[in-house]
Amino acid sequence: MIDPHPSSAHRDRRRRSTAAFAHARTLIPGGVNSPARAFGGVGGEPIFFRAAAGQWLTDIDGNRYLDYIGSWGPMILGHRHPRVVAAIEATLATGTSYGAPTEAETRLAELIVASVPSIEKVRLTSSGTEAAMSAVRLARGFTGRDKIVKFAGNYHGHGDSLLVAAGSSAATLGVPDSPGVTAGTARDTLVLEYNEPAELEDTFRREGERIAAVLLEPVVGNMGLVRPSHEFLATARRLTHESGALLVFDEVMTGFRLALGGAQEVLGVTPDLTVLGKIVGGGLPLAAYGGRADVMDHVLPAGRVFQAGTLSGNPLAVAAGTATLEALRDDPPYARLERHGAALEAGFRAAATAAGTPVWIARVGSMMTMFFQPAGAAPVMGWRTASQSDKAGYARFFWGMIDRGVYLPCSQYEALFISAAHADADIDATSVAARETLAGS
Ligand SMILES: *Cc1c(COP(=O)(O)O)cnc(C)c1O
Repeated sequence: MIDPHPSSAHRDRRRRSTAAFAHARTLIPGGVNSPARAFGGVGGEPIFFRAAAGQWLTDIDGNRYLDYIGSWGPMILGHRHPRVVAAIEATLATGTSYGAPTEAETRLAELIVASVPSIEKVRLTSSGTEAAMSAVRLARGFTGRDKIVKFAGNYHGHGDSLLVAAGSSAATLGVPDSPGVTAGTARDTLVLEYNEPAELEDTFRREGERIAAVLLEPVVGNMGLVRPSHEFLATARRLTHESGALLVFDEVMTGFRLALGGAQEVLGVTPDLTVLGKIVGGGLPLAAYGGRADVMDHVLPAGRVFQAGTLSGNPLAVAAGTATLEALRDDPPYARLERHGAALEAGFRAAATAAGTPVWIARVGSMMTMFFQPAGAAPVMGWRTASQSDKAGYARFFWGMIDRGVYLPCSQYEALFISAAHADADIDATSVAARETLAGS
């Protein structure tokens, strides 16, 4: 259990959040609608917000923060981007849901297919959880096999068969597994260590004929940021191909974030299926799964693998997602995000060095994690190493940054996200805040 670290100044400045949380807890389990928001990983109480614009968040006490969460990834353009707001407003005038097809859904599908190298056909859902569950069902239906390989610390939403060794929220709460997931379900999920190609080879040698899919985050965001080795991804691609299993990339976080074509474009590895979410919905509830046409044609009603949704392809969400992807296509922010990412990484590194705080910093583009790791520790390449982090050290850093108006992930095991709305001065101010915070702790 992590002791709360907020200073008394912090508590005084956030009285309304404290009251709001107390009220929420009487009506909502734990006071939150998703556990990642509960500040369990840093102690203390969550901050309640009332507004956001660009790179800024405003809490219900009127405090302002530079936002490095971006709703856990979706807000790559910053909050209330004019193009996205205009698209949502225009859609409001024509109705918010029909439960029937629209041309706008096909336009979004066209944009996704044009952007993501491996996707030939795509189905829209309302959440990443649904999309990942559906991709797994499809892989099983297509191959006629039962087993799924996943990696410790990778999160694929909360579908039963995927809620095993599932990273951030589960890791933060110390729940490796959830009550309610049956032993039978968990048995069909094989959990391996990320970045260990030899473990994958062994598993395929033993069980290859029973494996429907290898599912992974091609750059992991959900145990803090972990980069894949080339050998690891190449091994996963080769083994699935040889055995007739599908390689499924969960790009809910990395899709449209690392490049328009996601991690698969950056890394040059082509999966059979891809799961998308977060950015693809532009801040509204929308996600997707897609890939090879011959596989996707097994989904009902083209094929027999069942998957459905009353609000799937919802007009408002489709409008927000389409506007976001068009903005990313027309004015790609990726060079700017890389420059800001590199600058923030340098700032954090300098702050840690100046304070004599041992850390491991991992970054790809605009996603980054500073792991508070013991001096001389091995590089963080998977859950075995990530889980050695000094969570109390991270918690002190988190609260010091909050007191300086910087909103970072409320867990050591989440990546921070830079948006296109962040300016040079914001990155500089954040580096200064990190230097002050680490010097004082
Ligand atoms: C957020 C996330 C999910 C789950 O998406 P939801 O929309 O929260 O259900 C799945 N996979 C990854 C990699 C994610 O980051």
